[in-house]
Amino acid sequence: LDANSAAIIAAEDEHVAHNYHPLPVVIASGEGAWVTDVEGRRYLDLLAAYSAVNFGHSHPAILAAAREQLGRITLTSRAFHNDRLGGFAAALAELCGKDLVLPMNTGAEAVETGIKVARAWGYRVKGIPADRATVIVAGGNFHGRTTTIVGFSDDPQARDGFGPYAPGFVTVPYGDAAALEAAIDENTAAVLLEPIQGEAGVVIPPAGYLRAVREITSRHGVLMIADEIQSGLGRVGETFACDREGVVPDVYLLGKALGGGILPVSAVVANRDVLGVIRPGEHGSTFGGNPLAAAVGTRVVEMLATGEFQRRAAALGEHLETGLTELVGDGVTGIRVAGLWAGVDIDPARGTGREIAEKLLARGVLVKDTHGQTIRIAPPLVIRGTELDWAVEQLRVVLAG
Ligand code: PLP
Repeated sequence: LDANSAAIIAAEDEHVAHNYHPLPVVIASGEGAWVTDVEGRRYLDLLAAYSAVNFGHSHPAILAAAREQLGRITLTSRAFHNDRLGGFAAALAELCGKDLVLPMNTGAEAVETGIKVARAWGYRVKGIPADRATVIVAGGNFHGRTTTIVGFSDDPQARDGFGPYAPGFVTVPYGDAAALEAAIDENTAAVLLEPIQGEAGVVIPPAGYLRAVREITSRHGVLMIADEIQSGLGRVGETFACDREGVVPDVYLLGKALGGGILPVSAVVANRDVLGVIRPGEHGSTFGGNPLAAAVGTRVVEMLATGEFQRRAAALGEHLETGLTELVGDGVTGIRVAGLWAGVDIDPARGTGREIAEKLLARGVLVKDTHGQTIRIAPPLVIRGTELDWAVEQLRVVLAG
């Protein structure tokens, strides 16, 4: 590690809480699928900030929207109206085929908001007795880091030691529609699912699962809430991962890429009969729906509305899958690919996910390990096929030792 990078990392270690264990690289700038560190070395970014940078670093159209808005006004709070929020909500609602948008900032806030909306709907519309509403979640889920959300995680690292946990959640195995139906009772307000589980290692449920969940929830009068915070907005080759099965959930939870890789923007999107249950004063956020976020979010929605990024993700994803398939049996024990998103299980004989990520770093490729033996590949959707080929070749070399 160069002296400059080492000094910066040491200074960070001194005063930043150790809630992450970053790879030893200090990024100073980025453009498209590439970032540059403080030593001037370039790296191909195959993480894209967990899909928050779907459009690439420093996308000119997104930067232009932000710059234009920076020169006007950035924050009003929602004590007043601003001239950007309505347009953003209209565009996002149209992209989702829904009526209403509730703007927040981070993904975890969108999830928390979705839970509140589901409970309010359960009491006010479905008629569940006070304080009895439950939400069904899936094993292996990752929905964020707040105290309520970690309470229904089954990952000991995320959960253990942070209780007491909020009641009102029931966990069923992911991908098992019969188990989900069996868990529904008269107090079930909603089912909350990732249509593809990102943090779990890009876990794709069996074909037909999402359709079955949609049918079951509709039949039982239970809301289907899709956490598309990581899977949505182009990543899987469609606007939403639910689109892969032609499923429309009652509630979309969106975040990450909605902020164009510039700032945190999240949202809950649903029809009026659901999201309309929230009344003034019951929910909010100082920053949610701010004009800067709305201007950036509007540009992001415009970019997605053309379908260009979705088509790119689909085509590049097939390309990536072809390359990764050749590694299966040769240092890779399994792959799961959905659009331009892949979970790659590393043969323990060749090293841990972290070790492989460190070796790829030395060869100019940034990836992140998850759950020990898996590395996740989620490049900006602006990456080129030849760049993906080069990255897969680096992985092949690293696995060969
Ligand atoms: N939901 C899903 C599916 C996620 O992948 C994440 C983050 O990785 C979150 C929620 C939480 O988002 P945030 O980190 O912005 O709170």
